Amino acid sequence: MKIKADTSVCIGAGMCALTAPEVFDQSEEDGTVVLLQESPPETLEDASRRAVTLCPSGALSLE
Ligand code: SF4
Repeated sequence: MKIKADTSVCIGAGMCALTAPEVFDQSEEDGTVVLLQESPPETLEDASRRAVTLCPSGALSLE
């Protein structure tokens, strides 16, 4: 699993960081997503998928 995060689309809602804090963080400057792990381990795949689904801006996608 590989995650892509488009910071130009992110609106800084923070759902990703709340849902999978091991995988996503937010920039202290503008709140946009910071991808901590591009290829999360299997144990974090479910949470990562949930975060991608919950993102309101469509900034996150899976490969
Ligand atoms: S949930 Fe989506 S819009 Fe919100 S911070 Fe994460 S990537 Fe950005």
